Amino acid sequence: MRIGIVGLGLIGGSLAAALSEQGHELWGVSRHAETIATACAKGWLQHGSTDLSALIPTELVFVCAPIPQTLSLVQRLTAVLGIDTVITDVASVKGAITAPATAIWPRFVGGHPMAGDTATGLAAARADLFRGRPYVLTPIATTDPLALERVQVAIEGLSVSLHTMSPDNHDATVAWISHLPVVVSAALVASVGTIDSPELAQAAATLASSGFRDTSRVGAGNPALGVAMAEFNTAALLDSLHHYRHALDQLIHQIEQADWPALETQLHRNRQTRRRFCGEQTGQQ
Ligand code: NAP
Repeated sequence: MRIGIVGLGLIGGSLAAALSEQGHELWGVSRHAETIATACAKGWLQHGSTDLSALIPTELVFVCAPIPQTLSLVQRLTAVLGIDTVITDVASVKGAITAPATAIWPRFVGGHPMAGDTATGLAAARADLFRGRPYVLTPIATTDPLALERVQVAIEGLSVSLHTMSPDNHDATVAWISHLPVVVSAALVASVGTIDSPELAQAAATLASSGFRDTSRVGAGNPALGVAMAEFNTAALLDSLHHYRHALDQLIHQIEQADWPALETQLHRNRQTRRRFCGEQTGQQ
């Protein structure tokens, strides 16, 4: 398939790498000529340009830009692409994008690869980023079935686990398992940043090990992405945060009251919950 990628960062670069490995012919558009040169040198692109009109020969275009720029890029693409070209995106929110993008380009299909990294840019991209991970498509009533099929054919070759759901269900779901963890982890890192004794802060930095690394990772990722998740999925994120605050209050109460049996019961329950969500044994940290 002739596939275009707009925005050669972590996700766009990784898609270019993975799709080119599958034998597709790749066109890339970046704002920077050096990025194009690097991606071509890696063999991830056969054609590159800083101009969107270079994508005219493509059959499918992935828009891999930050959330706030995704819709305007779809709009700009409508001025250059042939009407048969399918556009999809990779943005981490879907409600704010899928319906408006489909209204301006009938062959649009909303998408979200559920894989990432805290690093950004082409240097962090890798061909195996999506392997074995979920990839969500969010067709709506007006989605062209042939466009959906074309996107499915392209991404099925990436060994992802493919899911379809409505944009609203997607946003409600990722609020719990992606956006809430980012905010909770951000609060954890912010709290540790307030240790006011220089000696204690130094000792904590020296002793910080896997437990802190695991729980702080997503809260110290790409700040622009964290803000966009909150801005474009506000209601669902706030709903999950209110549940989180209630759970935190309960834990604080149990500790203040030295109610160790209640705390232990909750922690046992958490082992089951985590197993259900992560499919693995809960180990000691
Ligand atoms: P990234 O590494 O920062 O890449 C984004 C790329 O978009 C940049 O490298 C740049 O490419 C282009 N870009 C940036 N600002 C732009 C602007 N103002 N106008 C046009 N293009 C611009 O970020 P990413 O992690 O790949 O995120 C890209 C998308 O993937 C986002 O919508 C995000 O929600 C989604 N996503 C991210 C993750 C994750 O964990 N990071 C996971 C799943 C989905 P050029 O320099 O080549 O122009």
